[in-house]
Amino acid sequence: KVEIREGLVSVIVPDLSKYIVGNRPEPAHAPVFYNPRMEVNRSLSTAIINGYIGYMNKAGITICEPLSGTGVRAVRYAREVNGVSRVIANDISERAYELIRLNVDKNGLNDVVSVYRDDANNLLLRLAREGGCDVVDIDPFGSPQPFIENSLRAVRDQGLLCVTATDVGVLSGKYPIKCVRRYGALPQKFPFRFEVGIRILISMIARYALSMDYGIQPLVSFLDGHYYRVCVLILKDRAYALETLRNLGYAYYRLSTLQRGFIPGYPIPTNTRYRLAGPLWIGNLWDAEFLMNHFMSNVKDYFSDRAREISKLIVEEALGPNIPYALTTEISRDLGRELPINDVIGVIRGLGYQAVRSHFHIKGFRTNADLLRVREVIIGK
Ligand code: SAM
Repeated sequence: KVEIREGLVSVIVPDLSKYIVGNRPEPAHAPVFYNPRMEVNRSLSTAIINGYIGYMNKAGITICEPLSGTGVRAVRYAREVNGVSRVIANDISERAYELIRLNVDKNGLNDVVSVYRDDANNLLLRLAREGGCDVVDIDPFGSPQPFIENSLRAVRDQGLLCVTATDVGVLSGKYPIKCVRRYGALPQKFPFRFEVGIRILISMIARYALSMDYGIQPLVSFLDGHYYRVCVLILKDRAYALETLRNLGYAYYRLSTLQRGFIPGYPIPTNTRYRLAGPLWIGNLWDAEFLMNHFMSNVKDYFSDRAREISKLIVEEALGPNIPYALTTEISRDLGRELPINDVIGVIRGLGYQAVRSHFHIKGFRTNADLLRVREVIIGK
């Protein structure tokens, strides 16, 4: 075991140098799971929860993390979230449970963090019966699907549900049938397939919510390498359920015209002329007001460079149009060379249209311009 510093806390974690597979440490092989790359996820989550407290004018919130691993996330929430009154940490593994207790104790947080060793779904159901939590954070191996229904029960009205999914390959079209089985939606290998994936993930949460007469509203969504992260408000009111229903539909893409967009209609799309992916979330992936006025001010200097870089990218992206991103390769295909992303954005803005970078892909941008026209202008240059 080694001691590491992350955010404002120090915690004991397994020594990953003892679990090398190939030439890389493999967190899943350690007796308790700890992935240092997830610092980005944890840091941004503290900023999101702090932002949520300001946005919703909350005080003394309770946060539940039913899949805690080493407890690093729960301990960070207890230390870094303003005015948090209680954090519930839990893991089914005995060794994880012992390590969480050690880390809570080491940071002097015994009065804030309660530690349990239970099955996550049992814990969530018990919490729901006892009045629920303001924030539920689901950070599993692979798909979060098994925990969504009970998370929706455990989160209070106007609470925040934060979900990680590490099965990006499944959601973004590598294993389409697996995605249909697990998420009830068909992905497609569209140029914007990473956006299709995150929208399928949100639609899965939305459909569980609808079945319970709840609505959802995404505050923040992002992709960071091997995982998706979405944080959505849960609104326990039938009027919001009806609004949520209107935000489900399909995504389309036409290779011949480079057109892309969304088609409303759930469960049946209103137009079936194109090849479709879905059902998926067709509403906004971000709440731009939340990001600008409540999130950004909670992104701290002590977060990693990567965490701060993603924050800036998603704030910029949230101001772009709600149209799937395109790739520079799509419009420079006939050019014989690739145009840098900033040049493409410059050309489009010069034509008088919106264009912003997309964090989903290094060559990705969001625009409301006709991409065939952009391609012509670029080729003519
Ligand atoms: N959230 C942690 C972090 O930020 O470092 C990492 C959690 S790790 C990806 C997932 C954890 O879930 C593992 O520690 C595993 O033991 C635990 N787990 C798996 N199935 C569970 C279940 N049904 N109930 C409770 N814990 C479970």
